[in-house]
Amino acid sequence: MPTDDTSNKTPAGIYEHWCEHAGCKKWGGFGFSAGKSAPMRWWCWAHYPYKPNANGSLSS
Ligand SMILES: [Zn+2]
Repeated sequence: MPTDDTSNKTPAGIYEHWCEHAGCKKWGGFGFSAGKSAPMRWWCWAHYPYKPNANGSLSS
C-alpha cells in the first residue's frame, strides 16, 4: 500500500457544518451560539436568522 493516500482523509478538527435550514444544501458559513456552553449552529447567509441589518428592522 502506498503511504501517500492522506488526501482523502479528513484532518482532525475539521467539521463540515452545512446550513441547518431544512432542505438547504448550502455551506453554513455563518454561525451563532447563544452562549459559551451552547452548541454552535450554522446557516448560509440566506437563512442566517441573526443578520445585523435586515432591511433596517432593528426595532427593539
Ligand atoms: Zn440555507
